[in-house]
Order: sequence, then C-alpha cells, then structure tokens
Amino acid sequence: ITIGVASETAAGEQRVALTPETCKKLIARGARVRIQRGAGRGASFTDEAYVQAGAELADDAAGATAQADVVLCVQAPDGERLNLLREGAALVGLLQPQADATRGEAIVARQLLAFPLERLPRTTRAQAMDVLSSQAGMAGYKAVLIAAQLAPRFFPMLTTAAGTIRPSRVLIVGAGVAGLQAVATAKRLGAQVEGFDVRPETREQIESLGGKFLDLGVSAAGEGGYARQLTDEERAEQQRRLGEHLKNVDVIVCTAAVPGRPAPKIVTAAMIAGMKPGSVLVDLAAETGGNCELTRPGETVDANGVTIAGPLNLASAGAVHASEMFARNVLNFVSLFVDGGELKYDWDDELLAKTVWPERKAQAQSAAA
Ligand code: NAD
Repeated sequence: ITIGVASETAAGEQRVALTPETCKKLIARGARVRIQRGAGRGASFTDEAYVQAGAELADDAAGATAQADVVLCVQAPDGERLNLLREGAALVGLLQPQADATRGEAIVARQLLAFPLERLPRTTRAQAMDVLSSQAGMAGYKAVLIAAQLAPRFFPMLTTAAGTIRPSRVLIVGAGVAGLQAVATAKRLGAQVEGFDVRPETREQIESLGGKFLDLGVSAAGEGGYARQLTDEERAEQQRRLGEHLKNVDVIVCTAAVPGRPAPKIVTAAMIAGMKPGSVLVDLAAETGGNCELTRPGETVDANGVTIAGPLNLASAGAVHASEMFARNVLNFVSLFVDGGELKYDWDDELLAKTVWPERKAQAQSAAA
C-alpha cells in the first residue's frame, strides 16, 4: 500500500503529519511512502531526511497523493486537493468535515474513508493517538510565552540592587490539557500561578503543578469527563467572584472549552475594565470565539491599557515538536489498519468505527454492542 503526504493548504499551517521518524516506522510496517517536496519545511524537516527515512519525493500534491491508499494531513486539504484523491482512499487528520460544506461534500463524493481525528474517542487506549491532547499541550505552552512577551512585567520575583520585584500573578482559566500545561509553564517562569475550572478534579491537578486552585463556587462536570455548559445562575455566581478577583491579577490565560459549542464567555468587558492597566489576557479559545468578550480572533487589541491577544493555531507555532507528537499520534492510529503492507479495517474496533466520517451506522452499533 502507498501512504501519501502533500503540503498543507490551510493558511499559516507549519505542521506536517509525517516526520522522518514515523516515515521509517510506516515503511517497516510494509507501506510505501510518498511525500511532496517541501512538505516538512515549515516544521524544519528536510526532503533529504525523508529520503533517508525511505520516502519517495513527489513534485506536487497530485504526485504525492493521487495514487495513495492512505493520505495523512494535519488540517483538511482544500476542495481541489480532495478531488485529486483516489476514490475510497483513507484520509487521516484534523478534518473538521462539517466546518465547510464543500469539504464534507467532496469527502462523500470521492467516497473517502475519512478519519477526522478530533472524533477519536478519548479512551485510555486512544491516548497515544490523541492529537487534541498533544497539540493542546503545545498551545498552552505557547500561550504563556506570548503572555510573558506582551506583559510589561517580569514573571518571577527578583531581588535586585534596585529593589525587590514582586512576581506576576497569573490566572489560568480552564484546566484541561492546554490549561494544565499553561499552569506548569507559568510556574517554571516563576509567576504566582492560580487556575480554575468547573471540573472539581482539576483542583488536585493544578495543585500538583504548583498552582493554587481558585474556588469560584461552581462545579459543572458533564459527560465523558468534560465540562457541561453552566446555568445562568452558575454563570452569574462565577462572574461575580471572578470579577472581584481579577482586580489583583496581572496576566490571564484563557483555555476553557465545552466540546461542540462556542467557547464559554467567562471574562466580560466589565471585568477587563476593572483590571489594572498593563494587565494582559491571552485567549487560547479565540479559535472558537474566545473566553473573553473583547477577544478578536487573530488580533491583539488594547482595552483601556489591558492587552488582549487572540492568537490562532498556536500549536503550529511550535511546529517541530507539535509535528513530532502529531505524527506519532497518526502513526499509532494508522497502525490500527495498516498491517504488513495491507489495509485491514476492523469495524468492530470502536476507535475506527467511532472516528470514521460520515458515520457508518451498522458498524457503530456493532462496536457499541
Ligand atoms: P477542553 O479543551 O474541552 O476544555 C478545556 C477545559 O475548559 C476543560 O478542563 C473544561 O472543564 C474547562 N471549562 C469548560 N467550561 C468552563 C468554564 N465555564 N469555566 C472554567 N473552565 C471551563 O478539554 P480537554 O483539555 O480537551 O480535556 C478535558 C478533559 O478530558 C480533561 O479532564 C482531560 O484529562 C480529559 N482527557 C482524557 C483523555 C483520556 O485519554 N482519558 C484524553 C484527553 C483528555
């Protein structure tokens, strides 16, 4: 079988779904690998490195993917690229098939076996394939570095001949995978770190990283270990306590999300107005609208002296390590069906049955049984 990788088409995407390391491993599993020249450049992987790993180079996207049985990507290829693919080929990546009507239609029309990795069940067995987690780790790390860069303050406490500098107070909003990495990163930079989440188990997780849990009196654990949406009363209570608290915070990093919904609005314009000038908010949730009312996705704005940044695709900003993790996740997922140079789809395996799109009704049911 042939595995193909073309360069990414999404604007600003630097990551790549195959590294020389995973290329070698796929070849060891009996596959042929074709990659478009330059596809790894954004993540600093050279064509030579792929050739040394055993890949064949293609001059264009068609050469890399038109004959491929399995196509790997970070984000979905554009419509034109999708139409290059062989009918029935497998396509693996963060495909978001419903984010764009033409994309979904092309996947259906080409009868592609699409595996949008964001649909992967987050079970223990799937952890090694979980791109949402691996990429969120990089995003949380970068968000704190951006905050440190924008802040007109030191993060650590310093004792100098010019007097003592008190450490910055950093608040992490939402303590999922990205938020916990943000807590750890801000802590390593020497800040006084607090975090909160609506899932009560995050208290211990935040504390184990040296942060302090900020108790806002709201607990909203939902299904599958995720948060649920807050009721109006819960939200009002959270906001009252948070607004008061933010008056003494220097830096906020927002990472809160509820699966399948726009980002919860947690930090209001009024709260920002109550913060000290020189404060900074970095909103990792900007991609889905932001946790702060004043966030403008993709922009950095000034709100009466408070800097509010809404960076997009932060994982791509750490393209080398983000790609290494992404590519290993993809290798582990593809290994479910690439076996000894053959493709074997076991539709009784829930990781395949629940990830494939469009849903395969019969298989999904038999996997659940
Ligand atoms: P996410 O990106 O969906 O959400 C980020 C965080 O925002 C979550 O912790 C959520 O509780 C929080 N949040 C939502 N609404 C909020 C609000 N109003 N105020 C404050 N915080 C709010 O979540 P994620 O980072 O992808 O992961 C969420 C959970 O899933 C974590 O517990 C994680 O450990 C778990 N998980 C489990 C596995 C596994 O293999 N079992 C894999 C990945 C993640």
